[in-house]
Amino acid sequence: VTILGIETSCDDTGCAVVDDTGKILGESLYSQNDIHIRYGGVNPLIAYELHRNNIELAVNKAIQSSNLKISNIDAIAVTTKPGMLINLQVGVKYAKYLARKFHKPLIPIHHMEAHALVTRMYQTIAFPFIVLLISGGHCLLAVAKDVDEFLLLGEGLDNAPGEIMDKVARRLKLKNVTEYSLMPGGKAIEVAARKALNPEQFKFPLPLARYRDCNFSFSGLKDSVFRSLTKKESEHGTIGDEIVPEVNDLCAAFQLAVAEHIAHRTERALIFCEKEDLISSHNRTIIVSGGVACNDTIFQSIELIGKKMGYRVYRPPSRLCTDNGVMIAWNGIEKFRKQIDIFSDIDLSDVTPIAPLGKSLVNEVK
Ligand code: ATP
Ligand code: FE
Repeated sequence: VTILGIETSCDDTGCAVVDDTGKILGESLYSQNDIHIRYGGVNPLIAYELHRNNIELAVNKAIQSSNLKISNIDAIAVTTKPGMLINLQVGVKYAKYLARKFHKPLIPIHHMEAHALVTRMYQTIAFPFIVLLISGGHCLLAVAKDVDEFLLLGEGLDNAPGEIMDKVARRLKLKNVTEYSLMPGGKAIEVAARKALNPEQFKFPLPLARYRDCNFSFSGLKDSVFRSLTKKESEHGTIGDEIVPEVNDLCAAFQLAVAEHIAHRTERALIFCEKEDLISSHNRTIIVSGGVACNDTIFQSIELIGKKMGYRVYRPPSRLCTDNGVMIAWNGIEKFRKQIDIFSDIDLSDVTPIAPLGKSLVNEVK
């Protein structure tokens, strides 16, 4: 079985051809990062124009590099939710056009489910397992019970971790440093943090420390970092593009606080799952994915919790943590194997910007 996957939910146009052994036969990714950096964030209208310009190229490149023809592919998987509506529509409209032209079935894909399942492409991980999705738009803890069955345990109450890392990076003016100029904000913070000499000079409180659920909150942390920075700037009398000398220490202290918060909430989720018997004792696995999962400090803090509680912790390779077409194609393979969600057409009204991940147990976690 071979499936073409198409991803256009945010700012990357990603396509891939994947087979049922988990082999990536062909791949393409038109990352709009470099362009958006100049506009200071994702601009939905610019992203839309770029998707429209790149979608045909991206599909052709993935198909060509696979040495297959579209007529040899079994189905087309495409992200239908959640994401920016007009951007999702570009991918879905193109998938519909291909499906009609080549008489291929369509498989609609939930972007966050695809992030959650891609690790299964190259590692045997049986259901059920715990998923932690940390990205630019989401922060979620869930139990993956099956390909199409998720239980949501906790979610972000305000900003997503990647979003605040991007905001802090911008406020710290890291983009003015040549070394960081082309990196996503979270990556720039990670690299700067490695150079810290005295991160202990900054202390940030653990968000939601006294809550026993497993929701997330990052906006208070962002405000604390901004306040510390403003104080340092006034002490040093910095102006314009000047960067405070404590920048690396601030990055390290901030990154550690993000890591500790995520680890603390994950621990709450594990405790709840044990109590409710949601995870079998011989198969204790946590999968971490989404762009922020690229961060070694954050990942290691999850590994520590995993070790303490007897869980194996995995993440996909970095290029599959951030948005890509491979995870969409793989999710298509997973659905095709089970013969679920295979349609002759997708109605554009099924394309939705907001879509919860599975059944919510958020209010039951205490
Ligand atoms: P979503 O999947 O929620 O719709 P998205 O698709 O925009 O959001 P991803 O592509 O999964 O998000 O991730 C992008 C985010 O990952 C950015 O906020 C970026 O700063 C962050 N990121 C990338 N590399 C790192 C890193 N090494 N450390 C921390 N954050 C990182
Ligand atoms: Fe994503």
